[in-house]
Amino acid sequence: MSQACTGWRGDIGAYVVGALGPVEGTRVRRHLRSCAACRADYRDLLPVRDWLGRMISAHPAPPGYRAFDPATGVHGQASLRATPTGTQIDLAVRGLRAGQPCILVTVSRAGAAVAGTWTAGNDGTAEITGASAIPVSQLTALHIEAPSHRLLLSIPL
Ligand SMILES: [Zn+2]
Repeated sequence: MSQACTGWRGDIGAYVVGALGPVEGTRVRRHLRSCAACRADYRDLLPVRDWLGRMISAHPAPPGYRAFDPATGVHGQASLRATPTGTQIDLAVRGLRAGQPCILVTVSRAGAAVAGTWTAGNDGTAEITGASAIPVSQLTALHIEAPSHRLLLSIPL
């Protein structure tokens, strides 16, 4: 990288991780086409980006919630992610009866709605992804219920 290109370094780094807007991205791409030194720099950064991507996907950090009901012995851990249509709920539950059918109910001030149904595995655990049309900010609790509407666990949000 030549002295004249030092100023590009930060932009190229930002470009590699997809942090630049379309206008700046185009500017960087144009420079990369004309400058072999910066192209080499860019290629050196690609493995870093891939490595960062793996790190980030291995350690997702959405807000997490946990709860345990001593009466039913059910543990739950949920993470919520805002989506354009509402909320995606990733839920891991253990302490269920083997093969227990369960219902995930989202609770908000406006009422309750079923977000998913599933059956526990033979080890009494379940991992499910549910979707709710209710925005994250309006959810007050997640309920895990048996089909008879018996509450197995409530996770306050
Ligand atoms: Zn350059």
